[in-house]
Amino acid sequence: MNISRAARVSPLLKTLAVMLTGFIAASGAHAATQTTASGFYKMKLGAVTVVALSDGVFALPAGQFMVEAHKGEVQDALTKAHTGATVPTSVNAFLIDTGAKRILIDTGSGAFLGPTLGEVEKHLEAAGYQPGQIDEVLITHLHADHAGGLINNGQVVYPNATVRVDENETHFWQDRTNIAKVDPSVQGTFDAVSAALTPYAALGHLETFHAGEQLEPGITAVSEPGHTPGHTGYRVESDGQVLVVWGDLVHLAMVQLPDPKVTIKFDSAPADAVAAREKALADAARKGYLVAAAHIDFPGIGKVSKTGRGYVWTPVKP
Ligand SMILES: [Zn+2]
Repeated sequence: MNISRAARVSPLLKTLAVMLTGFIAASGAHAATQTTASGFYKMKLGAVTVVALSDGVFALPAGQFMVEAHKGEVQDALTKAHTGATVPTSVNAFLIDTGAKRILIDTGSGAFLGPTLGEVEKHLEAAGYQPGQIDEVLITHLHADHAGGLINNGQVVYPNATVRVDENETHFWQDRTNIAKVDPSVQGTFDAVSAALTPYAALGHLETFHAGEQLEPGITAVSEPGHTPGHTGYRVESDGQVLVVWGDLVHLAMVQLPDPKVTIKFDSAPADAVAAREKALADAARKGYLVAAAHIDFPGIGKVSKTGRGYVWTPVKP
């Protein structure tokens, strides 16, 4: 049983991982400086505890993957940041501990994307939680760096959790006739989704929802389509304090905050992705709430403010 699942996962490392594994060697050298030694960061949001969990770091080939709105702006940003063509990029997941429930938002990459990633489970345990204590897993979208950590060797990592994913997102990636609609770099997502969701579905632990629904007291799903068809953020509120978990609204902050019109080449609908990013940035800057982002430097929690035509990120101090 495990062998057949492993066999299904195996081609993934050759296909989906194209977007990452070619750059793993470069990223490894940066991993130690991009994550705190502990790999987790805890803070209070009203009565709720929020824990940022590092999955690790990969090297994003910025020139190859970022799609410019203005010629030369990616290279200008890299030069300004004194960084090379590939940028060490965090992968972050977030635990929301309400006291009543422990809710994990995204799971990292598991074994899908190489040895510099896949550390969410380890860092969850370092933060004092066992995987069996997780009551729910909310997925922002089904790319392997967000859903891959649901399984380990074909087995569920979170045996007591209900996995909840936007209905449009689940239907899109569970229908292989959509494979021609996505960039080759993420076509392996169809295999990853099958491998990661099937064991939870078999347990009756997979549910879908519609964006806009309140999923738990104080937690609402927010529609952010464009990066994927059902890409979803989660708004968490406790005692009047707000944190919005963005998922992949931003992949490369040094470029996409100064110019939110810059996209990434595997966005499913780039114009929609731009609209979702601009809306979220404007709202966060105007209202001043905290944001948690999957690919902004660990812990990925901070605030956004407006400057000129773009935005700047102010991280919380880890
Ligand atoms: Zn991602």
